[in-house]
Amino acid sequence: MALIVHKYGGTSMGSTERIRNVAKRVAKWARAGHQMVVVPSAMSGETNRLLGLAKELSPEKSTPELLRELDMIASTGEQVSVGLLAIALQAEGMASVSYAGWQVPIKTDTGYTKARIASIDDARVRADLAEGKVVIITGFQGIDPEGNITTLGRGGSDTSAVAVAAAMKADECLIYTDVDGVYTTDPRIVPEARRLKTISFEEMLEMASLGSKVLQIRSVEFAGKYRVPLRVLSSFTPWDIDIDEEARSGTLITFEEDVNMEQALVSGIAFSRDEAKVSLHGVPDRPGIAYQILGPVADANIDIDVIIQNVAHDGKTDFSFTVNRGDYGRTLDLLKTQVQGEVGAAEVVGDPKICKVSIIGIGMRSHVGIASKMFRTLSEEGINIQMISTSEIKTSVVIDEKYMELAVRALHKAFDLEQAGS
Ligand code: ADP
Ligand code: ASP
Ligand code: MG
Repeated sequence: MALIVHKYGGTSMGSTERIRNVAKRVAKWARAGHQMVVVPSAMSGETNRLLGLAKELSPEKSTPELLRELDMIASTGEQVSVGLLAIALQAEGMASVSYAGWQVPIKTDTGYTKARIASIDDARVRADLAEGKVVIITGFQGIDPEGNITTLGRGGSDTSAVAVAAAMKADECLIYTDVDGVYTTDPRIVPEARRLKTISFEEMLEMASLGSKVLQIRSVEFAGKYRVPLRVLSSFTPWDIDIDEEARSGTLITFEEDVNMEQALVSGIAFSRDEAKVSLHGVPDRPGIAYQILGPVADANIDIDVIIQNVAHDGKTDFSFTVNRGDYGRTLDLLKTQVQGEVGAAEVVGDPKICKVSIIGIGMRSHVGIASKMFRTLSEEGINIQMISTSEIKTSVVIDEKYMELAVRALHKAFDLEQAGS
């Protein structure tokens, strides 16, 4: 008997018919003798619908009061899901009980709309499991120290599931979704993308942080910190497929330190449209300038990603960086009102229509020439690189958004990611 956590995403929970299928699958696992905890998302489209209602009443986004209410609203989507799934399981003859985050409780900090999980008390859940019940816990939400409902950021149900698995020392956490595993890149953009049977934890972390939404980054961080055995697999296989076959399907996140000699140099390609570029032109080139520019941006809680400072001519330089697209307007305002005069920049300009494309692979550590192959591939397609950022296991470029799909496809081909035999 093992303790298993299943997570089902929005599409997998998208209708009562699909919820019935989830219930049948979970019942199969429970009847095979496992203790089951299930963490579902809201039904597909529901979180967007709920947040859309709030936006109709107030386009304003960032006051703490408003953010609190957004979490109050968005969290209801998952509450509906857990109740429906519990009913569906009971209809299958399976004892089950559902809990909202605060009932467990899943305690978080107060960061509304992007709260972090601080602790999970598993006593109640364990008592139910001991009575033979399937326990269903809302994804995406928790409760802060003052008793307010919080949410964990978009895609946060992945994190709820992995955190529950970590807290309960589950034998495995299975993330059921609408694709049958982690691919070399998003199969919606490149149909020739190949499913990976395994992916190293570090690569998965990079993929998630660089824009692949198949797993929320914090879920991967949790899996790494607590060594949670984690697998991504399809919820669209027939519910009654052989359980051992199901348990081996999809993509396993591995924690082995050694790079397999057969390891592809590049394992995957990630991309993100969620970025915007801002630049200050004609900035005096003197010590402290980066701090003078980026300090106020960081103080305003705006995350900065890629940064580039050009070589100076006549004592003047250009300074550019990227931020989340949602912070674009705010960043431009702040630079114009608080920074431009202060540092003596000639002008502040911006471009919200950029994207970031990244190649990822632990094989890059021991091989040179990977980045140059990336740059050559893009140049052959006539794509101009605006910014570059590298780490040991990834190279990212910022390019015009309109070339994103072309760039991803060309790189996918250039690095032979389509070949069979993962
Ligand atoms: P869920 O609702 O189950 O959480 P998401 O929509 O959040 O599902 O994540 C699954 C989606 O992630 C897939 O439908 C796919 O389009 C996208 N995706 C992006 N990059 C990848 C990748 N490298 N491998 C697999 N899926 C990816
Ligand atoms: N329902 C939430 C969202 O749409 C959380 C999740 O699906 O993981 O972002
Ligand atoms: Mg998701």
